[in-house]
Amino acid sequence: MKRTLYLKLLLGYVAFGILGFLTIATFTSHHTMNYIETEAAEDLYRESNLIASNYAANYYRQTMTLEDVQSQLTAVATYLNADIWVVDTKGTILIDSETTTPSETPIKGFDITSFGAKYYLTGNFYDTYSEDVLTVFSPITINYKVKGYVMIHKPMASLTSFHNDFLNISYMTLALIFLCAFVVLGLFTYTVYIPIRKITEAAKEYAAGDFTKQINIHKNDEIGYLAASLNFMATELSTLEEDQRKFIANVSHDFRSPLTSIKGYIEAIMDGTIPYEMQDKYLNIILFETERLNKLTQSMLELNKYGKKGIMLDISRFDINNTIKMVVQSFEGTCKQKKISFELILTGQTLFVSADMSKIQQVLYNLIDNAIKFSHADSTITIETTEKNEKVFVSVKDTGIGIPKDSLKKIWERFYKTDLSRGKDKKGTGLGLAIVKEIISSHNENINVISTEGVGTEFIFTLPLAAEKK
Ligand code: ATP
Ligand code: MG
Repeated sequence: MKRTLYLKLLLGYVAFGILGFLTIATFTSHHTMNYIETEAAEDLYRESNLIASNYAANYYRQTMTLEDVQSQLTAVATYLNADIWVVDTKGTILIDSETTTPSETPIKGFDITSFGAKYYLTGNFYDTYSEDVLTVFSPITINYKVKGYVMIHKPMASLTSFHNDFLNISYMTLALIFLCAFVVLGLFTYTVYIPIRKITEAAKEYAAGDFTKQINIHKNDEIGYLAASLNFMATELSTLEEDQRKFIANVSHDFRSPLTSIKGYIEAIMDGTIPYEMQDKYLNIILFETERLNKLTQSMLELNKYGKKGIMLDISRFDINNTIKMVVQSFEGTCKQKKISFELILTGQTLFVSADMSKIQQVLYNLIDNAIKFSHADSTITIETTEKNEKVFVSVKDTGIGIPKDSLKKIWERFYKTDLSRGKDKKGTGLGLAIVKEIISSHNENINVISTEGVGTEFIFTLPLAAEKK
């Protein structure tokens, strides 16, 4: 493709040159020659008219001698670089500016009507000249009668040399235009063709699946913009690819480790490596791993559901304070074990929001679950609701292990777990916060995290305040 584009341009350029040349050689040449001829003929015709009404008429009226007329005509002829004749109606040359002894026989085949409606002719004038001449004539009329003609013959060679000079200037102009076009072609090659070739090469590599190539064009025009967009696209696609690879690696890992341990324990139980009295303990581990697999599958199914656009929210008006209390209650058992207590700072007796209650319950569940998992024993988890600008802010705050700064952005990604948390929580899948984010986003609300490693973490999300019930 790239070669033909350039070839087309070059062909266009050459065609332009050839056509320009042909135009000058035919059209321009023809028209200028015509123009030069008629201009010269007009000039000569004016002269022949003057001569016909003055010298020639005087000669016929015999008010001037033949010698006088002859010498006058010779002077004019020299000035005009032409031949002047006085011819009678039959074609006999009476006076010739060239010679004092013109032939006395009429010109063979002379016929004044051969001029037709024109006042000039070109050619060798009845073979009287060896070269082509431009001939004009004017009748000499005395007492309303045509007595003869004045004829002026100018060699065509003098006209053609003028014509050739003119054509040479035209060819030179064409050559200059051609040169300018060459400069434009060069500029075009540099500013359009080379960048497009670079872009095409990069696009070919992208099509082959290699997104590492960056297009090195930094310009402030459409091509620069196109290159920047393609670079951006390539980077996005390469991270997407990377993400997908990571995702699959994570999924496989998360499925494989529980399956391997389940398989190991079952084999050990079957072949008697684990004695009967110990089996309970290992069956419990198997149960734990199975639950984990179950949870993993459930979470993935859930996320998949959110991934599709337009999940159906069952929006209702409910008391968020009450919902928080209910969710907290369900954690009482776990908290007792870890000696973790809750502090609820709730605004008002009731605080109504409009949202999907079961989904918000899940958000709270996931956030509180994290807070407990990553808190130290004997600590307090604070849950607070505040109302501001038609929004309700819900905060879940712990004083646990915290999140390292460079992990803060990644915790929302599927399967992401910080290195800190791995030791604390083996059951976690890293999908909880991804689900939380999807739920809050589908409500068109926001969630933020503030955390300091080793100090604690606070998650804050917003919900729309419900209108007063009438
Ligand atoms: P799951 O929620 O599926 O059981 P998980 O809790 O590990 O697994 P997320 O809830 O998505 O996954 O959390 C992702 C990671 O973010 C956690 O593994 C942990 O590293 C970090 N994290 C989340 N909440 C806290 C918190 N309150 N304190 C410290 N780290 C946290
Ligand atoms: Mg979690």
